[in-house]
Amino acid sequence: MEAQTKTRVQHAMICICCRNVFNISFAVEDYIDWKQGKHIQNAFPYLNAGNRELIQSGTCSSCFDELFPEEDDRDPSDDNHLEQ
Ligand SMILES: [Zn+2]
Repeated sequence: MEAQTKTRVQHAMICICCRNVFNISFAVEDYIDWKQGKHIQNAFPYLNAGNRELIQSGTCSSCFDELFPEEDDRDPSDDNHLEQ
């Protein structure tokens, strides 16, 4: 009941890594709930994990994958290219 009375507004979220703009629709009330300590999964149950990541950390899902690659994907020969 309560969830259906909220109005979702489209927000332009800019990825801090690739600077791409993603339009994500969510209710401002849900954002406030999250800021006040609600788990992001519970605050935005209607968003996919990638969009939640963008709200939470400011990085899109593809940049997040690059920042935190799965260990099995690492190619040892790439170590020399790491600059950070
Ligand atoms: Zn990105």
